[in-house]
Amino acid sequence: MDFDGFFRAELDQLRDEGNYRQFADLERQRGAFPRAKSHDLNRDVTVWCSNDYLGMGQHPKVLAAMHDAIDRSGAGAGGTRNISGTTHAHVELEAELADLHGKEAALLFTSGYVSNWAALGTLAARIPGCVVLSDEKNHASMIEGIRHSRAQKVIWKHNDVADLEAKLAALPANCPKLIAFESVYSMDGDIAPIAQICDLADRYGAMTYLDEVHAVGLYGPRGGGIAEREGLSHRLTVIEGTLGKAFGVVGGYIAASTELCDFVRSFASGFIFTTALPPAIAAGAAASVRHLKQSCVERQAHQSRVAQVRQRLDAIGLPHLENPSHIIPVMVGDPIKCKYISDILLRDYGIYIQPINYPTVPKGTERLRITPSPVHSDADIDVLIDALEALWAQCELARQPLAAQ
Ligand code: PMP
Repeated sequence: MDFDGFFRAELDQLRDEGNYRQFADLERQRGAFPRAKSHDLNRDVTVWCSNDYLGMGQHPKVLAAMHDAIDRSGAGAGGTRNISGTTHAHVELEAELADLHGKEAALLFTSGYVSNWAALGTLAARIPGCVVLSDEKNHASMIEGIRHSRAQKVIWKHNDVADLEAKLAALPANCPKLIAFESVYSMDGDIAPIAQICDLADRYGAMTYLDEVHAVGLYGPRGGGIAEREGLSHRLTVIEGTLGKAFGVVGGYIAASTELCDFVRSFASGFIFTTALPPAIAAGAAASVRHLKQSCVERQAHQSRVAQVRQRLDAIGLPHLENPSHIIPVMVGDPIKCKYISDILLRDYGIYIQPINYPTVPKGTERLRITPSPVHSDADIDVLIDALEALWAQCELARQPLAAQ
């Protein structure tokens, strides 16, 4: 078989559909977020699609903690957690994360993806007869973890508690059940009815596994996520989060009971058989978590920037999904136009917004996912809105009725 020929043909098909992924070659600039240097264009651009939602990846406290940790401990962890790779920075960070969520313990992984894959996979595989009830819009990392476990999976309609209840009721009363869902959904920005899901979990004796990847650092008085904001952390069996988005570094974790964390620590291959995060990463993440526990300034500024961008989009009638979160999906509905707008924004306006096409989102719902941060300026917003307005007209895309001005 001509393997390369096969690969080329598959990739050509992606290109024809407008779904071929091209990466922007960016150089982030210390302390200058949301500005970055585009190596493709050899110019500075403004990033409008980063998941470094608060700019913590450039925060002086985070950078200082990382520099300090490198000076004290060097580069890598030197091993898996089991074999010499558990440094004091890891231990401290896990304590910080357990405290953030009001849980007894926390367990670090090399990414949020790995934490979902490993923790969900291990729980579902190792609890005898466990059935996983998974929201239909769960992230790929959860889906892959559940698949890998080979446990029975029941998919319930997105955020639909009536459907979840019907599916719980249809299962034998005594079989172990695990409800897996997210708080803020990354592509639509909608939020799960966590309290109602916890009520159902209580009624049917199910465990709850909540992915708060797009909420930790951003919501709740100490940045503990939507569950913290709604006073529900104690009702969730497992809260999973990332250190790579609002906390600005990299890594993932679960927070839960001592026994559950110890169980996953002891059985999850995705935890056991991989090199631990570098101590400098753990130290930087801990500084970020600590800062956002005691500072609401970034969270408040973030929310007000998001509101400002939404109002400006409404004022020019650009269709965006209404949701109660910080994610602004501007709907294009066509993969070729979505990619074109993204390309021209970058080339002509120095604005970087990656197009979000199938399979990340369903066909026909292609979008520009805009993520304002506290450090985008009024002038940045003006440039963004003018550019989008011009491109919308050029692409002959539909507008919503103009909002009252
Ligand atoms: N869960 C959700 C809902 C996500 O959107 C993502 C990443 N986009 C992850 C988990 C994985 O997190 P990480 O980027 O830290 O691997």
